[in-house]
Amino acid sequence: MNTDVLIIGGGLAGLSCAKTLQDAGVAYLLLEASEALGGRIRTDHVDGFFLDRGFQVFSTAYPEARRILDYAALKLHPFFPGGMIRFHGKWHRMPDPFRHPLTGLQALFTPIGTLSDKFRVVKLRHRALSGTLNELFTRPENSTLQYLKNFRFSSSMIERFFRPFLGGVFLDSELTTSSRMAEFVLRMFASGDIALPAGGMEAIPRQLASYLPSGRIRTHTRVTSVQKTSVTLESGESLAARAIVVATEGPAAAELLPRLNPAPYRRVTCLYYAASEPPFSGPYLLLNGERAGPINNLCVLTQIAPTYTTTNKQLISVSVLNYADLSEEDLATQVRQQLREWFGSQTTDWQFIRAYTINAAQPVQVPPFPNPYSGQTQVQDGVFVCGDFCATGTIDGAIFSGRRAADDLRKWLEA
Ligand SMILES: Cc1cc2nc3c(=O)[nH]c(=O)nc-3n(C[C@H](O)[C@H](O)[C@H](O)COP(=O)(O)OP(=O)(O)OC[C@H]3O[C@@H](n4cnc5c(N)ncnc54)[C@H](O)[C@@H]3O)c2cc1C
Repeated sequence: MNTDVLIIGGGLAGLSCAKTLQDAGVAYLLLEASEALGGRIRTDHVDGFFLDRGFQVFSTAYPEARRILDYAALKLHPFFPGGMIRFHGKWHRMPDPFRHPLTGLQALFTPIGTLSDKFRVVKLRHRALSGTLNELFTRPENSTLQYLKNFRFSSSMIERFFRPFLGGVFLDSELTTSSRMAEFVLRMFASGDIALPAGGMEAIPRQLASYLPSGRIRTHTRVTSVQKTSVTLESGESLAARAIVVATEGPAAAELLPRLNPAPYRRVTCLYYAASEPPFSGPYLLLNGERAGPINNLCVLTQIAPTYTTTNKQLISVSVLNYADLSEEDLATQVRQQLREWFGSQTTDWQFIRAYTINAAQPVQVPPFPNPYSGQTQVQDGVFVCGDFCATGTIDGAIFSGRRAADDLRKWLEA
C-alpha cells in the first residue's frame, strides 16, 4: 500500500491522528503492537462483567473529546457529581462543591470542611473557570498541595476531600502534580458530567476506530526502530513513508526516538469484585478520607452503568495507589480487610474477579508543567510525536495531541 504517513501506536492519540488525516484525505497506515486498538483504554469481558483495565472515567466537558466523539452513541452514564467520603468510621455524602456550589457547600458543614473552606471553594472555582485553557496553562504554578495550602484550605478539607479526590485523578496521593493540572481538572468537573460509556471505557477508542477503514490498520505489528522516512518492524520488514508519527506511550517513544526525554509514569492497581447486593445504592464515587489502609477510592460500577454486567450481580472496583512494595496477594488481603471494616460481613461473600496493575498508567505531571496547547510536535525532519505525555495525561490530552500532530504534519506535507 502506498502511504504518506506511518502512525505508530493505536491508542487514543494514534486514532485521533489517523482520523484527522483521514478527514483531510491524507493516506496513512496505523501500526499497533498489541492485538487490538485502544492502548491504555481497554475493557475485558470476564464472567459477564465489563472490566476496564484500571478504573477510569470520562468527563463530558473535555474540549477536544467534544469535537470528535459522538456522545449520544456512547450512551454515557453519569456519576453523582461529588462523592461519598469515609471519615471517622462513617460515610459522608458530599455533593461536588465545584458543580453545585450551593448544595455542595452546605455539605462542607459535615466534618469534611470549615465555614472558611466554603468561601475558598467559591474563589478556587472562579479561578479554575476563568480565562482560556491556554491562559490557565501559563499561570504561575506550584504543586497541587502547596497550591491548596496557599488558598488557605483547612487541613481537614485537604486531607479528607482533596487528597483522595485529586490524588485518585492524578494517581498521586502526595499531590505533587502541577496546580495547572488541578485547575484544568476542576474546570472539567465544574463544567460537565463524569461518566462511563454503556459499553465500557473501551467504547471511546472503539468509536474512533470505527471511522477508520480496516485496510489502514495493522495490529500485532511492533515497530522496533524509526528512520527519517521508514520504520523497521519486529518481523524485520521495513515500511517507507514521507512522514512518521510516533503515538506510543512515553517510555516506548523514548526507545524509538532516544533524544526524547518523557516524564516517568505513575502506577495504579485496580481490583474487581462481584457482589450479590451493592454495599450502598446510587451512582457514587467513594473516597477514603481517613488516609489509612490501601484503598484510595471505590465504586460500584453497576450502580452507575448497569450495562457493565449481564449477570444479576454488582460489579465493584477498588483503586489502590502507592502499594508498589506489596505482592498482589498481600495487597488483596489488606484490601479485603479494609472492605470488611467499611461494609461488614457482607464482604465475605464478595467474589474476587481480577486485579490489574498498570505500571505506566499516567505520566507524572509535576511543575514545571508545559502548556500543552503550544510547543512542537515535529521532533526531527518528517518525524512527529503525540500521546498523553505531550499534552495532559488524560483522554482529552491524548485525543488533542493526536489531532495537533496531524495538523502540523499536513502543513509540513503541503509546504
Ligand atoms: C488506570 C488508568 C486510569 C486512568 N484514568 C483516567 C481518567 O479517569 N480520565 C482520563 O481522562 N484519563 C485517564 N487515564 C489516562 C488515559 O487513559 C491516557 O492518557 C490515554 O489513554 C493515553 O492514550 P495514548 O494514545 O497517549 O497512549 P496509549 O493508550 O498508551 O497508546 C499507545 C499505543 O502504542 C502502542 N505501542 C507502543 N509501542 C509500540 C511500538 N513499538 N510499535 C507499535 N505500537 C506500539 C501501545 O500498544 C498502545 O496501544 C488513565 C489511565 C490509566 C491507565
